[in-house]
This record gives sequence, C-alpha cells and structure tokens, in this order.
Amino acid sequence: MTLGRTFRPGAHMALSPLPLPPAAEAAARPPSAAFPDPDTERRTLDACFLGPYGENDGLLEKLVVEFLRDHVYWRRNVHPDDPPAIPTRAAQHPAYQTFEARMRHELHRLSAALKRSVPFHSPRYIGHMASDLLLPGLAAQMLTLPYNPNNVCEDVAPVTVDLEVQVGLQLARMLGFPDDPAREDCAFGHLASGGTAANYQALRLALALKAFPVALHAAGAPDIAAPADAVRAFNLAPAEGIALLTRWQRWLAAQPADERRRWRRRVQAQRIETLGLTAFFARHPALRVPRVLAPITAHYSWSKGIKLLGLGSEQLHLLPERGMRLDADALDAALERCARERQPVLAVVAVLGTTEYGTIDPVDRAVAAREAMAARGLGFSVHVDAAWGGYLATLFRNPDGSLRTREEMRAEYRGFPQPHVHAAFAALGGADSVTVDPHKLGYLPYGAGAFVCRDHRAMALLTEEADYVFDGGEDAGYLARYRHLGRYVLEGSKAGASAAAVYVTHRVLPLDHTGFGLLPRQTVLAAEAFHEAAQRFAQRMAGLVNARVPYPPDSNLVCLALNPAGNRDVAQTNAFVRALAARLRCAPDQPVQSRQFFGTTTTLRPEAIGAAEMERTARALGLDPATFGDRDGADRLLILRHTLMNPYLLDTGNGISYIDLYFDHLATLVREVLG
Ligand SMILES: *Cc1c(COP(=O)(O)O)cnc(C)c1O
Repeated sequence: MTLGRTFRPGAHMALSPLPLPPAAEAAARPPSAAFPDPDTERRTLDACFLGPYGENDGLLEKLVVEFLRDHVYWRRNVHPDDPPAIPTRAAQHPAYQTFEARMRHELHRLSAALKRSVPFHSPRYIGHMASDLLLPGLAAQMLTLPYNPNNVCEDVAPVTVDLEVQVGLQLARMLGFPDDPAREDCAFGHLASGGTAANYQALRLALALKAFPVALHAAGAPDIAAPADAVRAFNLAPAEGIALLTRWQRWLAAQPADERRRWRRRVQAQRIETLGLTAFFARHPALRVPRVLAPITAHYSWSKGIKLLGLGSEQLHLLPERGMRLDADALDAALERCARERQPVLAVVAVLGTTEYGTIDPVDRAVAAREAMAARGLGFSVHVDAAWGGYLATLFRNPDGSLRTREEMRAEYRGFPQPHVHAAFAALGGADSVTVDPHKLGYLPYGAGAFVCRDHRAMALLTEEADYVFDGGEDAGYLARYRHLGRYVLEGSKAGASAAAVYVTHRVLPLDHTGFGLLPRQTVLAAEAFHEAAQRFAQRMAGLVNARVPYPPDSNLVCLALNPAGNRDVAQTNAFVRALAARLRCAPDQPVQSRQFFGTTTTLRPEAIGAAEMERTARALGLDPATFGDRDGADRLLILRHTLMNPYLLDTGNGISYIDLYFDHLATLVREVLG
C-alpha cells in the first residue's frame, strides 16, 4: 500500500486554513504592487480559466490528479490497519465487470449528450449570464467533492462550514460592511442555491426584524424602551430594531433562568413566525400588511419571494424607471404616499446590475430615503439585489478596504464609472442586505448565490430554536455560532464543496481592484468596446437597417435595437429581430457548431420605461409609435441583448477581436434575413 505522499498522519488536526484575522489575511496576500499594469494583468488572466481552447488542460489535469490522489491517501490513513473492504481481485468478477460496462456505457451516453451543451466558455457566447469557470474554484470544488462535506453544521462539515462563514466576511468587505467578527455589529453572509433563495432570505429577515418589536410590545415587555404602540413598533428602522433586539437580549440574559424561560416563551408566542400572518394581523388591527417597493426591472425572484412569504404579489409595488434605472423621485413619491397613508413598507429593493440591461439603480438614493423616512416614522430595510453586478464592487475597492475615487478609476476606462454608478457602489455599505451570485460574475459553478446582511445580530431572529436569547451563547463567539448554519438559512443540507470553491477563489483573487477586479475590468472594457463597435455597425449599415444602443451601458450588458430601413411597423421590427435571434440561439436540435455566435433578446416595454421614453426610442429607430398595440405582440419592442462576460472577447494578442467578428456576423445575418 502506498503511504500518503502529501498526507501526514495527524496533520488534519492542525490543518487550519482559517480563520485568519483580517490583519494576518492582508499580510498573507501575495505582493500585487505591479497591478494593474495591463501586461501583468493579461498574463494573470492566462492562468485563470481552462480557456476557450482548453489551453490550461495540463494545469487542471495536474491539479485534479494531484488532489484526487491526496484524497485517496487520506482515506487510507484514517485507519491504515483496516484491511481493504473490496478484495484485490474484485475487478475480475463478471458482476463487477458487468457493472463497470454499464457504468461506462451510461457515462459515454451522458458525455456524448453533453456535447450539445451551451458553449459558455467560448468568446462567441455573449448570451446569458454565464462564461468560463475560474480554475481555483473549479479545482477547489472538484477537490472537495469526494469529501462530501455538508454545510448544514460543523458536525458534518468541520472545515467547509467555516469557509462559508469566511466567504460571508470576504463579501462583506467587498461591499463595505463591517467584516471584523470581533465587532458586535459585524456583517454576516452565507451561501444559498442562488440569487432567488438569497433574495428570499432578505425578505424573511426584513419581516422578522419588522415584526419582532411588535411581539415585544404585545408581550408587555419589560423596561427596555420598547415602542409604546404596535404601529410605531412595526415601523422602526432596521438599525432601531436591532438595537431593541440587543437591549432585550441583554435584559433577558440578566434574568434568573426561570424568568428568562417564561419571558422568552411569552415573546415567542407573539411573534409573526409563531402566529402566522393571519393571526398576527388579526391581533393588531391597526397594522396594515407591509409592501415591498422594487423597480419594474426587478428579477422575477421578487414576485416568487413575496408569494412564498405569504404577503401576496399585490404587496409587490413596482416603481417606474428612468433610463432603465429605478426612478428615485418616483421612489420618494411612493414613500411619501406610504407615510401619508400609514402604509408600512417592508423593504425597498434596488438592483445593482439589472438582469435585462445591466443598469445600476441609485442605491445611494434608496439609502438616503431610508434615513429620511425613518425620521418620519416609516422604517424599512434597503436590500440591494446585486446577484448580477455584485462582483463589480471589486473594481471600487482598494486592497486596504477603502473605496476608490471615481477619478482614480476613470483612467482605466473610456467612460466607466458614470457618476451615478460610482455613487451607487459607494453607497452599498449603507444597505441592510445584499444578494451576490458567485455563480454569475464570480465565474463559479452553479449552486452558489450569497446573502449578506450588514449587521449579523438580526440573524438571531431567523433561528429555528428560540435561541435568539444568547443564554451565554455570546461567549461562544461569532464563528462558533454560525457553525450551525442550518439554523439560519433556508436550506438544510448543502454542499460544502461550493463554499470551498468560493472561498479559495476569493483567497487567490482577493475582492479588490488589484485582485478579482481584473475580471470585471475586462468585462467593462469589453462592453465599452462593444458599445463603440455597435455605433460603427450602425453607421456602416445605415442604408439597410437602423441600429441603436437604446441605453448607454452602466456595466457589462449591451442591448441593440434594430429596425429594417424604411420600416415603420413595430410588429415587423419584432419579426425581424426574432429572425435574427433564432440564428443566434443555441437550438437543442442543432449542433452548437452550426452557430457562429450566441446572443439573447429582451424587450423594451412602455410600462417599464414610460410611454414618452418608448415613443422617443421608437422614433429614433424610424418606427411609427402608433403601430404599438396588442396585436402580434407589438405592445413591446424586441431587442438583442449581449452579456459581455467572457474575458477573451478583446484581442488578447492573437489579432482576433470577437467583438468585431460578431458585428461582421450580425451584418451577414441582417442581409440574410432581409433576403
Ligand atoms: C440572476 C438574478 C437573480 C436570480 O438569481 P439565481 O441565481 O438565478 O437564482 C436575481 N436577481 C438578479 C438581478 C439576477 O440577475
């Protein structure tokens, strides 16, 4: 038997990749003084992915084999004296061979079928929000899979549950939240299956925090300065709610054990989570069911979430856009109306990188509105849905955690970041919670979304056991508490391998502009180049087709509206764009090689952008706004949508710009469709 080559018996006891305190963390970082010099950046990028051609196959293969062997040594060394359970000659038995043959057969079929997969890795893929996978994450995930840790709690994930909590702190730092667990108001974040589940967690937490003060009030809570009536209790700002919760916990901890139990039961009985919505609101007739205000471009996970929460989609109040961004004046007006009508608000959602246009909502205005309205007795949480755009925050962050100024950043781009974009990212730290998807702009395998809240103390309200009373649990500390992750999150069993992938990636590429930032920088540069190429395309094709980028991109998604020259009819335009899109789609019944490029579509709708804006856009394309109507789906304008996420879109030194190739191809498609 081969003895462990890299595994040292007993070494796993001492093996502690964390938790490093923030200072040590900074010291452990590789020197990166050279960044961002374009050549170093480009050469670093060379090592990041398997690559469009599989250029780094040797590296990945080496890593996979090395760590698979290491895993096997570990197995052998758990109890090296145990005789092998599978006999040495097992492989010679016909039953074994039959099994192996069946397995091979089915794996072969699967592998063959998977050749019809969407080629996310290719720079020719500019469709949905997916691209190649980062090698450190992919390798970490593959390395961890055979250990199969379950991040429900430390008993079944002694290593990876800590990694998940660390990921929360890494993301907190990127967002500008307190990330030192020694601080009582430190942020907390965890992974979820995706942005949908993370957004739902945000709703759950906002409701728990909103309703808890009412429970305290109803239970006739002791002298902890609880609000005097249910309406006021229901309208505390999140920070006030957390302060009240903390006072309550301290008071409770000072009581004798019997008293403590009695009070805990008494308050627990009044909580919305105990009573359910119906009984809770029946008990408090002065309270109205709270609303969620979100921009009309919000992802449909918000509609799912509010239904799941039991509030009903009626309570999801969609706000209009201006230039594809949340209209902050409309937000102020809506909040004003809520204050006047005593209509409680659960949360205001701002989107950082809309799914359809990549636009950035004014997070700064949402945070300012929360402060202004709290003073007027209308408290609510601000949640930022940064499922798509979250990792762009790395561009705004220095290695020491400070924010970069817009002036510092502008030298690196043509126009990015616009003042409103910089203001939105600068305000992120003021949000109450944020959703970020590592499986989108984090370039990691699916099954990795993240929820981060600014002040972890609110999380106590989500625990399944009534241990929102610390019962001395304070002493256990931040990390120890969250080793029971399953108590706080929606899921029970969850993949520790995902946490390992995200953690290792963030260690290799720290979440600032000199580290991970090199990836989003490529995407923003690609989007700027794409935007310019689109304008050249529009000029070149002027006699044939009217082409326009309807909104200058805030980040890395660029849309293109196209109308055949001379056409005035919206239905005709849509039919034309549909025909183009069909040639840019990955069709399940067609080999992927039959497509030159892959794109997607979205729509411009009057209810989203307003009738006036819709009319302006239509006229700019040469369309007659009077032809908008219900017939043939002409109530909206179909446009092409491009996600510029692939890091090899720009000329990497081989003389090929996939962006130029795309527009040449689009010109061919336009001619083909126009026949
Ligand atoms: C993708 C996305 C979501 C949903 O995330 P999933 O990971 O697909 O569940 C939510 N909000 C926004 C803005 C998104 O882009």
